[in-house]
Amino acid sequence: MKQIYKTLGALAALALLTPSAFAAEAPKNIIMIIGDGMGPAYTSAYRYYMDNPATSQVESTVFDQLLVGMSSTYSSGTQEHHTKKTYVTDSAASATALSTGVKTYNQAVALDVNDKPLLTLMEYAKSIGKTTGLVVTSQINHATPASFVAHNTYRYNYDDIADSYFDNRVNGNFVADLMFGGGQKYFIRDDRNIVKQFVKAGYQYFDSFDQLSKFDRLPALGLFASSGLGYTFDSPVKYRLLKMVKKATKLLGNPDKGYFLLVEGSMIDWCGHDNDIACAMHEVDGLAKTVEYLKDYVDKRDDTLLVMTADHETGGLSIGAQGVYQWKKDVIKQVKHSMTSIISFLLEGQDPAKLWQEHIGIEIDDKGLAQIVAAQKTAIKAIDESPKEDAEKLKAARTNIRVKLITQVSDVLARLTLTGWTSINHTGADVQVFAHGQSKALFNGHQDNTDIAKKLFKLMGRE
Ligand SMILES: [Zn+2]
Repeated sequence: MKQIYKTLGALAALALLTPSAFAAEAPKNIIMIIGDGMGPAYTSAYRYYMDNPATSQVESTVFDQLLVGMSSTYSSGTQEHHTKKTYVTDSAASATALSTGVKTYNQAVALDVNDKPLLTLMEYAKSIGKTTGLVVTSQINHATPASFVAHNTYRYNYDDIADSYFDNRVNGNFVADLMFGGGQKYFIRDDRNIVKQFVKAGYQYFDSFDQLSKFDRLPALGLFASSGLGYTFDSPVKYRLLKMVKKATKLLGNPDKGYFLLVEGSMIDWCGHDNDIACAMHEVDGLAKTVEYLKDYVDKRDDTLLVMTADHETGGLSIGAQGVYQWKKDVIKQVKHSMTSIISFLLEGQDPAKLWQEHIGIEIDDKGLAQIVAAQKTAIKAIDESPKEDAEKLKAARTNIRVKLITQVSDVLARLTLTGWTSINHTGADVQVFAHGQSKALFNGHQDNTDIAKKLFKLMGRE
């Protein structure tokens, strides 16, 4: 990877020589927000989920207020065939499109189809003297943020990508001045302690969420969990993304050359993969509260642009299902835990009827209960029979068992709430584009996801 970074340094230096006419009216600060997996049905569902039943109309949300356009999300290909176009992207290819303006193949992190490194918005921002930051609810080296900071052929090379956060430099500088999210296990390893290296290089570091208020300067590194931060739904701490973003905007302050800040509501997508509507609504709410804060923040100044989109849709969510003209948000509101927790309880052998009463809270019919009882029995039997001597095989078997159990539980929940899902993975539906503040009109109408990055590069003066 060393050679890659040398090439990028040269690219960034070249970019410095091309000032733009665009730049005079350009926003000084850019806040880019990504709702991972947040397709159009998610923000519609959230509107109805938040609807005040005491009024006759449905109140608009911050997403409705900031909507300006749509974006396509297809990728250039797969790991096997980099240029055999697929309409369904993964998070790495779409993040690369959004971070570099170039289509790539699924699972590639900021590399083109020939595995050549692409200059990212954050690297470019750093090269022109901007302060840079990222705030996410996943591990900070997850596909989306990674596509702004690192370059790798495979998004799941988490250790290698974590190394890049320290090793990849722009004119000798680290790419991100501020990093908040999870990921301790990738940054503090037996073979390398990257946190220690960052601290030695001057970064302020805290590792628990209740120490967030202690950050008082840049550069700053906050890793608040071993991996991702976990679901808002199951966490005693609410609005973590909002709290991290508030701290980030304070720390970034008002630098002379402005800043580029990436914010991701990372876990909406994870709820979508679990076909878990209640979890998705909690995560979208976490993002909505963050966007409301940032909208106010942008309103108070005249030098900042906020652009938000999703990297793709997850799950093929539909509002209404089973041929019924209804969506039962009141039932969804009674659910008390994420699917991940429910599945763990079931695999521990908890009694489904009792579990349903205590941890889910919605009324279940005999058909639904029988379905869960049977699924639990099958899953526990399969775990007992899975190959214990081979760790890899055991992991794969457990994933498979978990997916099967989720399918059954989510099927019951979907039926009781009239929510529809067509996949446990991504779909190719277009996603929304939202913008606010200076130059927001540039994002009106339909565009490809690569156009969003191209416009942002242009606003920062790169031709
Ligand atoms: Zn996903």
